[in-house]
Amino acid sequence: MSEAKRQQLIGKAEQTHRLTEAELAALLADDGADDAMAEAADRVRRAYVGDEVHLRGLIEFSSYCRQNCLYCGLRRDNGNVQRYRLTQEEIVALAEKAKAAGYPTVVMQSGEDAWFTAERLAEIVRDVKRLGLTVTLSVGERTTDEYRILREAGADRFLLRIETTDRKIYERLDPGMSYENRLRCLSDLKRLSYEVGTGCLIGLPGQTTEMLARDILFFQSIDADMVGIGPLVPNGDTPLGNEPPGDMRLVRRMVSAIRLLLPEANIPATTAMETLQPGARELMLRSGANVMMPNVTEGEARQKYALYPGKACVADTPDHCRACMEGRIRAMGRTVGQGAGGRRRSKISIL
Ligand code: SAH
Ligand code: SF4
Repeated sequence: MSEAKRQQLIGKAEQTHRLTEAELAALLADDGADDAMAEAADRVRRAYVGDEVHLRGLIEFSSYCRQNCLYCGLRRDNGNVQRYRLTQEEIVALAEKAKAAGYPTVVMQSGEDAWFTAERLAEIVRDVKRLGLTVTLSVGERTTDEYRILREAGADRFLLRIETTDRKIYERLDPGMSYENRLRCLSDLKRLSYEVGTGCLIGLPGQTTEMLARDILFFQSIDADMVGIGPLVPNGDTPLGNEPPGDMRLVRRMVSAIRLLLPEANIPATTAMETLQPGARELMLRSGANVMMPNVTEGEARQKYALYPGKACVADTPDHCRACMEGRIRAMGRTVGQGAGGRRRSKISIL
């Protein structure tokens, strides 16, 4: 793309927060656009969500999963992953530690583990809410009633990536799961007034920049409160084990494009990014992101929750993570977020 065209598209995105699918796809495909996109996204980040970096304590509470996603180490056909399930007491104890470490929010994530019925999960949510924490769930697809029970128990937010908006790729990579049901879940969550996070994987076989452009327009169309993306990290115990890893430069352009088009969203710098490229979390925080999700899972569970190999910081302790993240944030001239760090609704009318 010519320099003039690049500047024009980035300028339009920075000013109006709107691009067409073709414009977005052209920027995403433009290897020379990384830095200019990141600088514009960093300005938009500062204007809309400020310099705070919000920390969410991640609790990985079960590695059992009834689904069989082709990319994921927790898929049910993977006999090489060790399965574990934390007890209610263990989960609440981790939440207490997260609170003591100064994390105002916990993200409770697991495979799709049917042992955790909505009622069992609701009890845990109530316990964690009693600690005064904001609760984000990331437990996959559930029925409308189950989402309602969890919301009524106090869950505030929910993360469910669409993974890809290309229906064919979605249904090929997530056998037995339907794209329609994924959409139904996201729409239920919105209607139940959860803060909703979604996102996609980058580097799926057959995925194009046009598809990624449509992913971003989808996030915009559902007014996503949070958008978490990450590169595919090939896992040798899965059918995608021999695929190349996601392109980190494309991941960075995606982070920047998401900030430009969804200026108010909370956007994490994710572990998968750091796993492929040490230092990527800081780079992404300078390219549009404003959230980090330090792992507070302790002991063996921390290793066993193996979505992909080489997970960054897997050998660290939660206390080490807390200190390390705070140091990194300060060193960038940013501040650690105070309070729950929910979706901010800007006074600036944009959309
Ligand atoms: N079971 C829940 C939550 C756990 S999986 C769910 O699927 O929503 C959380 C995320 O991990 C998934 O949304 C997927 O995007 C990501 N993930 C799984 N395997 C991965 C891999 N090999 N590389 C990168 N990210 C992966
Ligand atoms: Fe299960 Fe989620 Fe992994 Fe799919 S991505 S196999 S639903 S843990």
